Amino acid sequence: MLKEKCGVFGVRCAGGKGAFVPLYWGLVAQNHRGHESYGFLTYSDGFKRYVDLGLVPRIEKEELIRWNALLPGSIGISHVRYGTSGHRDVYSHLKDAQPMVVANGKEKLGIAFNGNLVNIGWLREIVSKTHMKLKTCSDTELLARYLAGNMGSSTAEGIVRCMNDIEGAYSVVGLRSDGELFAFRDPLGIRPLCLGASRDGAVTAVSSETVGLDINSLDVIGDVEPGEAVIFSKDSVERQRLVKCNRRAFCGFEFSYFARPDSIINGRTVYSVREEFGRNLGRRYQEIVRDADVIISIPETADDAAYGLHEETGLRWERGLRRHRYVTQRAFILESDDRSSTIDRKINVVNGSLRGKRVIVVEDSIVRGDTTKTIIKKLRERGAEKVYMFVTFPRITHPCFYGIDMATFTELIGFSYDEAGIAKQIGADAVCFQSIDDYVRATGMQGKDLCMACACGKYPTELAQKIADRSRTVISTDRNRIYEKANLNLEA
Ligand code: SF4
Repeated sequence: MLKEKCGVFGVRCAGGKGAFVPLYWGLVAQNHRGHESYGFLTYSDGFKRYVDLGLVPRIEKEELIRWNALLPGSIGISHVRYGTSGHRDVYSHLKDAQPMVVANGKEKLGIAFNGNLVNIGWLREIVSKTHMKLKTCSDTELLARYLAGNMGSSTAEGIVRCMNDIEGAYSVVGLRSDGELFAFRDPLGIRPLCLGASRDGAVTAVSSETVGLDINSLDVIGDVEPGEAVIFSKDSVERQRLVKCNRRAFCGFEFSYFARPDSIINGRTVYSVREEFGRNLGRRYQEIVRDADVIISIPETADDAAYGLHEETGLRWERGLRRHRYVTQRAFILESDDRSSTIDRKINVVNGSLRGKRVIVVEDSIVRGDTTKTIIKKLRERGAEKVYMFVTFPRITHPCFYGIDMATFTELIGFSYDEAGIAKQIGADAVCFQSIDDYVRATGMQGKDLCMACACGKYPTELAQKIADRSRTVISTDRNRIYEKANLNLEA
């Protein structure tokens, strides 16, 4: 089965302006959220769709006319995708590429989705009753069909049903066959989604991250609230808080790993939060800092934290590791062998810079440990005398059921080993994780508004908690969702 960690964008332009250009740039700015496939869906007297594999391509100015003709209309949605498990052949990647379009009688519905659904067994059963053969094995098709089947007299009616019935993380942009654009976010707001507009009001857009708005010179209006739907009718944008929970659960991991540093989350740039992560580590592990000669960081997600650590401690920060710009895969999303070889190709040690030195290596997270192990080996081969790992995200001890590719206990090194054990396994002299309290404080958010389940084991949704509590012993080294793999019938 497929889980997704993706980026979405949706736009409506007034005055006959085409949607394709903002859709395109909205994706380019968010390509870090998905390298596997990309796609566009526009509306102009019907849908026009284009999807393909790989990175969003470079489109020269002269080619824009052709693309605009291929994808006409002033309304559209777009998507970049990581399919993080399940079928990994090219045919499946293309089949599952988004935006996805489903038919419900005469009506068609297109959606682009970022997240992961937890009560997937129940949903598949319900949807299968009305659609004998599903075309894909992705959550997206199930969500789209359930939504389409419940829209009744209004879009909001279908969205409320989804929010009440579907457990999981979902930030969605969608397009109906009459050209209505809409967006919504799950009641806990686990995945990001924000709203922006041009000063003259001619262009309005929704984007996973604010960088998708910035690149289109749109002002950020704010987050789409958890449980909120934004419906773009002909002349207006209607915001409705359809379901209200007494807490939020924004994914804490977005700050460390996924979001771009120049994105704004909860009023703060991700960059400044990461810098604070580094400062925290410097304050907490002073003894190790005193025993080190130099700070380096694993580019690029740990760079800002390394700068914060340098500012806090005065210890020199060297750019001793360099990233190959054109090796683009994000390592922890790959299979184990691929991960090690990718990191080997992707990261290089600047020759001679670390020989004989005691090095603090700042890293954003340790999930399985294999990529960190590969880097430490490289550092030792290049003469590093000591290697201390400073990790901005707390020790990951529990799987994620909300769309990050770490869905089983046994694949997580932090589940099997404590700090000393992890250090031994990966060949470090010490591994120093950020505490959960320090992490939460640096984000500027309240603990009750963040999901930190993969670090603390407290899940913000009921079924996810049940699955975690009952599946610790399910041994799995593949990428399938633990509750499906073990046939855990927890939804009954
Ligand atoms: S479990 Fe971890 S990765 Fe998953 S949503 Fe929560 S904080 Fe994010």
